[in-house]
Amino acid sequence: MRCDICDTIDIYKKYEIFETDHWVLLLRNDDQAYLGRGIARLKRHCGDIAELNESEWRDLLQLIKRYEAIIRKKFGASLFNWTCLMNDAFKVTPANPHVHFHVRPRYKGKVEFAGVIFEDKEFGHHYDNKKKFEPPQDVLEKILMAIKN
Ligand SMILES: [Zn+2]
Repeated sequence: MRCDICDTIDIYKKYEIFETDHWVLLLRNDDQAYLGRGIARLKRHCGDIAELNESEWRDLLQLIKRYEAIIRKKFGASLFNWTCLMNDAFKVTPANPHVHFHVRPRYKGKVEFAGVIFEDKEFGHHYDNKKKFEPPQDVLEKILMAIKN
């Protein structure tokens, strides 16, 4: 059965921030409205967070701690919205979800990076899912390099 995550591992490899034993953290290349927005994908195919094992949960906790520390230090994020939604997988029948978590760093103040001003006008409220910013390739690469180094 097709899986949007298993089938696109090679395509997104270039946006990898780091990997752990059980997870791969990628920068979202198509949307940086919230600077540092990423996606943590479980390496194995599994469709429900209730089926994660303890080792995978522990590993996810380490990933979260590591990523939050990096983004606080590099860009000054104040808060992180981690979400596991998987709604898109259920737009088709049969649904074939694959566990992943979105992360949107949230910023109390404006951040200027690579000549771009990032402003989180919704800070203190739910993120705006309609707000998108697909950065030019050079800006995307600068964001990725800043996070990785
Ligand atoms: Zn999968």
